[in-house]
Amino acid sequence: MSNQKKVSDYFCVAPWTHTYLSPQSERRICCASREEASWQKQYIDSGLANNDEYKPVSLEEHWNSEHMKSVRKRILNGENIPECQVCNGNILNLYTYREYFTKTLFPHKVQEILDNTDETGYTTMKPISFDYRIYNLCNFKCRMCGEQLSSSWESEKRVMNMWDKKHDRWMLPENKEKIEEFQSYVAERELWAAVNNKTIEEIYWVGGEPLMYDIHWKVMKYLVLTGHCKNVTVRYNTNLSRDSYQNDELFDLLKYFKKVNMCCSMDATGSVAEYIRHGLNWDKWLELFKKGIPLNQKYGMDAMVIDVTITLPGLLDMKNLIDLAVELGVKSYVKITFDFDPSAIMSPMCLPRDILNPILDDLIEYEQKLASSLCLRRTVKSVYLIVLTKSPNRFAINTKLCQLKCLTLNTITYTEKLKNLQISLV
Ligand code: SF4
Repeated sequence: MSNQKKVSDYFCVAPWTHTYLSPQSERRICCASREEASWQKQYIDSGLANNDEYKPVSLEEHWNSEHMKSVRKRILNGENIPECQVCNGNILNLYTYREYFTKTLFPHKVQEILDNTDETGYTTMKPISFDYRIYNLCNFKCRMCGEQLSSSWESEKRVMNMWDKKHDRWMLPENKEKIEEFQSYVAERELWAAVNNKTIEEIYWVGGEPLMYDIHWKVMKYLVLTGHCKNVTVRYNTNLSRDSYQNDELFDLLKYFKKVNMCCSMDATGSVAEYIRHGLNWDKWLELFKKGIPLNQKYGMDAMVIDVTITLPGLLDMKNLIDLAVELGVKSYVKITFDFDPSAIMSPMCLPRDILNPILDDLIEYEQKLASSLCLRRTVKSVYLIVLTKSPNRFAINTKLCQLKCLTLNTITYTEKLKNLQISLV
């Protein structure tokens, strides 16, 4: 590719620097991209898998695959590619994942990308940022989560016999065994290879619950012992239910890294939070969160952050959460519960507009009164995001999805009964 070429607004460095693996061994450009499943559909995927057999691919096979080359080629051609619609359309939040990668993490990689990519999209660059969700191991059953990302949900679904051998093939014992083998022997080794050869520049620890992963503690300790930690940014999405493992203390290890971004999931306060995040002990979470706040002195205000997923019950407790953020002097990142249709009763989008709108107006007014606080600017902006969901267009898309049978008759009937509404007529 020409060195003179300028990148477009749709340009993103992720396909050249970052790689994602799900607990079911599905590979993606990043966790926000919408791609077709290769075998087991993930919640955000754009298409069902047309392959019945579990055939995971190694990172080497994936990195310059026809699909990845096509993504890079189209991005360099300035195309608004469907794989990136979550960023292109601000679907999940206002500050997009693209901005994080391209403006915050790797803005200095653009020229290297242009210099090291040929006209087919093949690149000689290697992934330096890893989001490897090796297991779905998690001690919580958050109500907006599910079995693919939480072993506790998986167990519950098994006990309640609420899984389907056709759609949840990854849960079949014969497949579980193969997945575990691949994730341990291939995926873990790929991550270790990047750590050992010191090419890794960012690790995004997510899960499952990453603080439950043995590999998390081993990798973090190894990076500190070898000193490579000073070149590595660590980012977390954690339920913060623990801060130690065997002899290791999380906040001690975190002192040595280039940059730390702990996104600590919390969507409400007290008993409302405990209702949303089943397994949570509110007092313990708050104690551990406060323990981490001194990291902000070393790494800035993005070190310890309250990571909010706006749910319906959480929306009604949002003022308390805002007050807590102000009291602690910390930032909040906010996204909404991803709603494919209005039956997602954990999503605020589930409410009829004449109920939702006054709640939003009241919250905006509340936040505006507090808008002088630096910590709150993001929150104010994010409430604006929910306001965007008031858009009739967005609802129209959902209605269209319903017509496309994304919303089954049973779900509609159940939701209508629950809310005494006729959603199917909306
Ligand atoms: S634009 Fe967004 S979805 Fe696309 S690769 Fe970048 S971060 Fe991922």
